[in-house]
Amino acid sequence: MPTTIKRILVTGGAGFLGSHICERLVDAGHDVICLDNFFTSQKSNVAHLLGRPNFELIRHDVTHPLWLEVDEIYNMACPAAPGHYQYNPIKTMKTSVMGAINMLGMAKRCRAKVLQASTSEIYGDPEVHPQPESYVGHVNPIGPRACYDEGKRAAETLFFDYHRSNKVNIRVIRIFNTYGPRMHPFDGRVVSNFIRQALRGEDITIFGDGQQTRSFCYVDDLVEGIIRMMNGPDDFVGPVNLGNPGEFTIRQLAEMVIQQTGSKSKIVQKPATPDDPKQRKPVIDLAKSKLGWEPKVPLAEGLAKTIAYFKSIDMAKFRAPTPNY
Ligand code: NAD
Ligand code: UDP
Repeated sequence: MPTTIKRILVTGGAGFLGSHICERLVDAGHDVICLDNFFTSQKSNVAHLLGRPNFELIRHDVTHPLWLEVDEIYNMACPAAPGHYQYNPIKTMKTSVMGAINMLGMAKRCRAKVLQASTSEIYGDPEVHPQPESYVGHVNPIGPRACYDEGKRAAETLFFDYHRSNKVNIRVIRIFNTYGPRMHPFDGRVVSNFIRQALRGEDITIFGDGQQTRSFCYVDDLVEGIIRMMNGPDDFVGPVNLGNPGEFTIRQLAEMVIQQTGSKSKIVQKPATPDDPKQRKPVIDLAKSKLGWEPKVPLAEGLAKTIAYFKSIDMAKFRAPTPNY
């Protein structure tokens, strides 16, 4: 009898998204290897999985080669918050590019399927709104966000070249802003920043006028989309947008967080950051038609769950990965 249990590697598996993917795969009975260098995460995200016989944790950096035998790879390793990826921009580029080369090489050798966590950032500061997968983007190649944006763009190029030249079985997803439990409280991203500030009664910092928009996807919805993409038909390799098309200004988000936490925090305006995209919203027709996927959790509901998580943790137990929060 052929087994349906797969050996699955999740790089960046201790991170926010990676830890939820590991949890889903362990619960489904797969043999899961979580790989992480713990730059922007800590073991507490996967501590509850450590006692499970089908879960294994490896401290490793994806910029270095690695020899494993696996059936599938979720390549999630990369700092994702602007303050983290700009902290050591050269390392960020190396993580995207050399990490992709190492994982694609492993996939080629093992004949494994490999999924790349790409990003809406490959669209840059978009001149087309909302963004379909066919939009090739508007990225400043020499700005402070380029280490991440161009690194992820180069990784997409490598994935498609390995697919065309070496027939590697790939999947490429473009993730739009995702939030939820296990975000690092000091990652500097807007949802975690606003909730942390609101719960501590600190000023809520809006960068710029707060009229820039983002579309926020709850983590459970996203993970469902990622797993459907990995398990989807081999002739649909992507790239596919995964995100929630509900679009909000950053000021609206700040007001929702204040209202839901009952905080007395004041909203203050800080200087805008360079190359900050003014608008972002995914077109998800492809994910709907090919994967039968669309997000179900509205922002108000997901925020309530995320606020409950932030209330439940002891922030003193979290080490800020960089001073940029
Ligand atoms: P995260 O920072 O919580 O997770 C990234 C993980 O990768 C961390 O555990 C970190 O320690 C690890 N890591 C970083 N560099 C590494 C290296 N060189 N070797 C090994 N491990 C390394 O961020 P996240 O939000 O979970 O993002 C996961 C992936 O999804 C990233 O590739 C990110 O670019 C992508 N993504 C996330 C979002 C989002 O909104 N969360 C949006 C677009 C794309
Ligand atoms: N932002 C903000 N205050 C903060 C953190 C972020 O106003 O404390 C803004 C940021 O300038 C951007 C948006 O919120 O316009 C989303 O930022 P985030 O870092 O979460 O992700 P991005 O989508 O920019 O990668």
